[in-house]
Amino acid sequence: MKRYSAFAVAREALRRHSGWERAWASPEPQSKYDIIIVGAGGHGLATAYYLGKNHGITNVAVLEKGWLGGGNTGRNTTIIRSNYLQDPSAAIYEKARSLYETLSQELNYNIMFSPRGVMMLAQTHHEVRGYQRTAHANALQGVETEYVGPDRVKELCPIISIDGPRYPVLGALWQARGGTARHDAVAWGYARACSDMGMHIIQQCEVTGVRSSNGQVSGVETTKGPIDCDKLGLIVAGYSGRVAEMAGFRLPVESVALQALVSEPIKPCMDVVVMANTVHGYMSQSDKGEMVIGGGADGFNNYTQRGSFHHIEETVRALIETFPMLSRLKMLRQWGGIVDMTGDRSPIIGKTPLGNCFLNCGWGTGGFKAIPGGGWATAELIAKGEPGPLARAFSLGRFREGRFIDESVAAGVAH
Ligand SMILES: Cc1cc2nc3c(=O)[nH]c(=O)nc-3n(C[C@H](O)[C@H](O)[C@H](O)COP(=O)(O)OP(=O)(O)OC[C@H]3O[C@@H](n4cnc5c(N)ncnc54)[C@H](O)[C@@H]3O)c2cc1C
Repeated sequence: MKRYSAFAVAREALRRHSGWERAWASPEPQSKYDIIIVGAGGHGLATAYYLGKNHGITNVAVLEKGWLGGGNTGRNTTIIRSNYLQDPSAAIYEKARSLYETLSQELNYNIMFSPRGVMMLAQTHHEVRGYQRTAHANALQGVETEYVGPDRVKELCPIISIDGPRYPVLGALWQARGGTARHDAVAWGYARACSDMGMHIIQQCEVTGVRSSNGQVSGVETTKGPIDCDKLGLIVAGYSGRVAEMAGFRLPVESVALQALVSEPIKPCMDVVVMANTVHGYMSQSDKGEMVIGGGADGFNNYTQRGSFHHIEETVRALIETFPMLSRLKMLRQWGGIVDMTGDRSPIIGKTPLGNCFLNCGWGTGGFKAIPGGGWATAELIAKGEPGPLARAFSLGRFREGRFIDESVAAGVAH
């Protein structure tokens, strides 16, 4: 595959862009692969990429029922941060954040990583204590965050109303190296690198059944016919419950719609990401100038990919309260994605009751930020058959053994 470079852009400009290659191939499925990954979202593609890069395994197919990145990876609000409370979470999210820093160079694909800083507002005394505790925990974990006071909040984001009609801003948990990245580009960059290693990314290929013999996985049924494999990775986010059912086991996850919206574009007015958990809303400004706004998750299980109208109303109300200058903005678009929520709000990366069948799911409202770390850990799990240090705590068995990784505060606002 030809490398992208400034020279290539100049060369193609002179020859009417006739020399660009397709970013990834679209092959027909083989009858068998060493490893099949179900789901070409960020986590599925990153898993395939690190299987090749870290473990030298390239006879891999990634099967996708729609188009790659068309699930939550292409629908999220792109916030990247690693200031979680528990040690296993801080480790995997910080691994992901640090991989994001050089991912554009590594993949030779501009994922537009923008470490502009993420601020989580403390608007009650309970939140002040909670975020101060997280800042202390992060210091011990080697994650750079700090608790800042209201003056610094105003300095970092002048459009915030510090006094607020209901909840004044008392401070914030600030992670200066957090930020955003272009979501589709993350999927596209990994897909291009996987295709370059000879892996097959097969779109419009829905997995409809999982085949096994003697308690070991042997292949999958798909809308393009049966395909055999030695190992199987199920990485389908909101559809994890359905696919697990095909493999003969149940998961402690619930699927709900989470939604987001964007405003009309305006001039640059905000160069940080702000999350306001108490009033429940979060926002950043895209490079095009749109305000990218995250809303809440539905309180009932569904697969609609839309989200309820009352959440839009609540989110907009929360943001006008926090940023009064938004009150005259028009909203352009709204959409939803189906997220897979676990009881402790932490992901599941581990073995399943079916032999050689592995799982990466349960990222809920916050798995975009984890894509490089989740892919890294899942590739190690599948390649070695056992979880490595990053994944060990996130096993499915923790729900039976009561070893929860409680991140309900860190993941309190949908992000
Ligand atoms: C509105 C919204 C805002 C969010 N904001 C943030 C944020 O700011 N920061 C953050 O970190 N996270 C955020 N998230 C969460 C984040 O998007 C997800 O956790 C993450 O994208 C999950 O990635 P994934 O690869 O596991 O899943 P997905 O990207 O959903 O990929 C799973 C893929 O599996 C495919 N699939 C499903 N069933 C089958 C089948 N039977 N056969 C074949 N393929 C199948 C689907 O089509 C899909 O493409 C947000 C999510 C939403 C919906």
